[in-house]
Amino acid sequence: MKIVVLIKQVPETNNVKMDAETGTMIRDGVETIVNPLDLYAVETALQLRQSRGGTVTALTMGPPKSEKALREVVAMGCDDALQLSDRAFAGSDTWATSYILAEAIRSRLEGFDLILCGERATDGDTGQVGPAVASFLDLPLATYVSAITDVGDGIGVRRLVEGGYEKLRLPLPALLTVVKEISFPRLPTLSGKRRARQMAVERLGREELDLAEEDIGLGGSPTRVSRIFTPQVARRGRKVIVKDEGDLDRALKELLAFLDERHLLPVPERKGR
Ligand SMILES: Cc1cc2nc3c(=O)[nH]c(=O)nc-3n(C[C@H](O)[C@H](O)[C@H](O)COP(=O)(O)OP(=O)(O)OC[C@H]3O[C@@H](n4cnc5c(N)ncnc54)[C@H](O)[C@@H]3O)c2cc1C
Repeated sequence: MKIVVLIKQVPETNNVKMDAETGTMIRDGVETIVNPLDLYAVETALQLRQSRGGTVTALTMGPPKSEKALREVVAMGCDDALQLSDRAFAGSDTWATSYILAEAIRSRLEGFDLILCGERATDGDTGQVGPAVASFLDLPLATYVSAITDVGDGIGVRRLVEGGYEKLRLPLPALLTVVKEISFPRLPTLSGKRRARQMAVERLGREELDLAEEDIGLGGSPTRVSRIFTPQVARRGRKVIVKDEGDLDRALKELLAFLDERHLLPVPERKGR
């Protein structure tokens, strides 16, 4: 099986900071890691390779330093890595990001059987990139996949849905986004780390992928962050203070009246119902 895994480099902290003026993430000076949820996709790909043979190629789009993320998953066992990096890609929203990833897969990784993504990235957190890549490549898609039940005549998967699971069968090639339940990411090995250090990672930009400037970066992004703000949590409650035991009755009455005014008390059940 020829498997492509999409991985994203994200800030290590959960405390993602945004530039209030531009509406983009502040990435400078922040330690980066592979999006933790992508490691489950990598592990799934490696297990499929173990059972069915083939290759696993990791693909990322990001700034030059995102090469580090690729080396990390090569150390886990990926065979190959491809980096998409170009100043012209800067400012891409999820649409433009997915378009660039899809075009790279179309032109450079043809013949793939399966694309695996994480459920979502811990920084942007939209969960849109996997489905959008599938859409650009016109591929069958299953999101929130918690198990691969069989591979042969297509691929059988189990999806996590609200309150249960759903079983699906998709023809190949297909794209899956996976949840944590699917696997447990392995640690990099010493020989993997050595190979990752020595490996040449191919980097492609706009020209190599033959992409029009108006389709990528800010110009190719139909969405803009118009404002970033922390929502104010307004607590319109009332403090009812009990000074001593004798005060309890008054306080309870006050509390019940407050809840009653807001229709927050349970309606007594009528007889005969
Ligand atoms: C309206 C809007 C405007 C934005 N503007 C900017 C901007 O100006 N500058 C900027 O830097 N960012 C910007 N972003 C963020 C950037 O577009 C996203 O980080 C990127 O598109 C990925 O989306 P996400 O983080 O929500 O990933 P998700 O959709 O949550 O990720 C799901 C999965 O897709 C895959 N994936 C996601 N991103 C990549 C990637 N880059 N490479 C490989 N695989 C990937 C991974 O498998 C991941 O687990 C913007 C986002 C939005 C919504």
